[in-house]
Amino acid sequence: MLITLKEAAEKIKAANKILITAHVQPDGDAIGSTLALMQMLQSLGKSAQIFIDDTVRKNLHALPHFEEIRRPVDGEKFDADLMIVLDTSIDRLGNVKNLTDAPILNIDHHVTNKGEGVELYVETKAAATCEIVFKLARELDATITPEIATCLYTGLATDTGFFQFSNTRAETLAVASELIRCGVSPNFISEQLESKSLAEVRGLSAALNSLKMFYGDKVAGMILDHATAKTFDSTEGFIDEIRVIETVDVAFLITEKAPNFCRVSMRSKGVDVSKIAAKLGGGGHIRAAGCTLKTTLDEAEKILVAAIGEAFNN
Ligand code: 5GP
Ligand code: MN
Repeated sequence: MLITLKEAAEKIKAANKILITAHVQPDGDAIGSTLALMQMLQSLGKSAQIFIDDTVRKNLHALPHFEEIRRPVDGEKFDADLMIVLDTSIDRLGNVKNLTDAPILNIDHHVTNKGEGVELYVETKAAATCEIVFKLARELDATITPEIATCLYTGLATDTGFFQFSNTRAETLAVASELIRCGVSPNFISEQLESKSLAEVRGLSAALNSLKMFYGDKVAGMILDHATAKTFDSTEGFIDEIRVIETVDVAFLITEKAPNFCRVSMRSKGVDVSKIAAKLGGGGHIRAAGCTLKTTLDEAEKILVAAIGEAFNN
């Protein structure tokens, strides 16, 4: 069921013991929005605990209060009167879903989130969930400390490609401006986020070596096999290196995270890749989407290239 931001704020005000979560394979927006909301709720005297059922890319570990994030252990239960799900629909929570039977409040900006079975505040124009959490702070009368601002700015920066993507609106920059006024150092955040391990740069080189073009050079794809992918923890930004090819409309990266478990990332300049991803069991935004294909790397490539071809024909 769709609700307003005010209604979402009312539900939060009425709760005392709150579990906060976001999607597996968490990005800067997932971690930034959960950490910011946790600090806001704690400042209002509520108990708030973040659970994320995945490992988190090292670059995000320096965010304020990162060490308070927990990963659920098998069979664990958590006593809560509200579960807040940020930056995703409830199908990408891993085992966090089994931690509590508390009602779910879902706050998101993905067009593919239909809010089935939960109360959802969705704002698809928001560049990041962090942009929504910023507005929520106003509704809750929570002060944006420099630490909270740092978390929120991280989500804005990562989901907009440092304010370059088409989701960057005047409102997005107004929020970023306000966050800098609240104490953010943009250069500190970019330096943290840009830093890569040697293995990651070698992985990028391997990915670029795998470059293949399809459909008259309108589609560019890269693959990373498990042997290479297991040596580093994030492929963030890899796909942007081929998205820039002048003839390319759709770029993809397939990463074999484990045998028969391939993660797909897509970026586009025109085609709605959220629809392609949704057809394959994933989701996302018009110009950035993803899914998981539980097949071999070769099979995943065939399935994905066929689905992209179909989208061009429609
Ligand atoms: P990325 O390529 O950066 O992993 O993801 C691009 C966008 O698509 C992000 O907004 C991400 O949340 C969304 N996305 C990626 N994979 C999936 C998926 O498996 N399911 C859904 N629903 N969304 C996804
Ligand atoms: Mn997001």
